[in-house]
Amino acid sequence: MRVPFVDLRREYHGYRRELEEAFSGVLDSAAFILGREVESFESEFASFCGCAGAVGVASGTDALMLALKVCGVVARDQVITAANTFIATFDAIERCGATPVPVDPDPVYYTIEPEATAHAVTGSTSAVVPVHLYGQPADVPAIKEACRGLAVIEDAAQAHGAVWGERRAGSFGTCGCFSFYPSKNLGALGDGGAVVTDDGELEKRLRGLRNYGQERKNEHLEVGYNSRLDEVQAAALRVRLRRLVENNELRRKAAARYSESLRGVDGIVPPAERPGASHVYHLFVVTCEERDDLRRHLDERGISTGVHYPTAPHLQQAYRHLGYGPGSFPVAERLSSQVLSLPMFPYITTEEIDYTCESIASFFGA
Ligand SMILES: *Cc1c(COP(=O)(O)O)cnc(C)c1O
Repeated sequence: MRVPFVDLRREYHGYRRELEEAFSGVLDSAAFILGREVESFESEFASFCGCAGAVGVASGTDALMLALKVCGVVARDQVITAANTFIATFDAIERCGATPVPVDPDPVYYTIEPEATAHAVTGSTSAVVPVHLYGQPADVPAIKEACRGLAVIEDAAQAHGAVWGERRAGSFGTCGCFSFYPSKNLGALGDGGAVVTDDGELEKRLRGLRNYGQERKNEHLEVGYNSRLDEVQAAALRVRLRRLVENNELRRKAAARYSESLRGVDGIVPPAERPGASHVYHLFVVTCEERDDLRRHLDERGISTGVHYPTAPHLQQAYRHLGYGPGSFPVAERLSSQVLSLPMFPYITTEEIDYTCESIASFFGA
């Protein structure tokens, strides 16, 4: 048996016709940039997230960078974020000329917590970027409370549809940022991203910035970017958005089955779900002290796994200038040597989950 890490085809298969019709609608309109599909997607996605507005952009990294800019982050500011995030969060902060200030995550939920975050605030801090890592909602309301006066920009690139209390990820902060990279819970068929916000002024500035800084044609208010969501991608996203709740539910069912079978396996720690939260399992991440050996063992049995991420950003060559070293963020560093992402996608079968769990048990001699 072979178990893929992700198989997008299984999902697209069910609505290929709908996607083809959406694309032919774009072809018929011959509008490819900032047309009706983007406009409709923006309003549908904003209401899905429970926000007043959404602005489609070229990627999740751009969503973060543009949100930081409109929230007033400028060169030499400090921006607090999670030490265990994907490198793009750091990149977006650096691209504003600001300095990422990592905070070690909670060892159980893998997100940054209010106390540690507030502790990292200095006179130069202008924003905080909590990351809903793997699909687990960070406690953004408590972080906002602990860091009053700072912009809080959610990195929700792995958490489309995740719920905390009564609300969805992206709707808690000053802005919420999403990636539509194909394998994300809501993925396009290429790159894409969006910023959601309740603040009409920020929304207006984002619309300008993504489009050469222009407010009206040929009137450029600030130095801008070319960072737009394409019509074709928006058309695909509208089709997929209609399945997001159902697909997240399928991921949660798969996660429950994994957790149930792995509970008894000594040596494996399944992911914890924050009480009151609905984790959307963009990734199903376990920790294991013998991670690399276990990974090899699973590979020999035809099971593909991933590691998110093997090196924390502060230990990457690109971020040597920040001046951190091994030991600077012990939780993030321990996680980078122990995390293992098991196969996870909406149409994974129970046979595949059970075979993966049996293979894990056999590694530990059970
Ligand atoms: C995917 C991802 C990003 C970047 O999104 P892109 O669309 O690839 O630019 C940023 N942060 C996190 C946590 C991500 O998973």
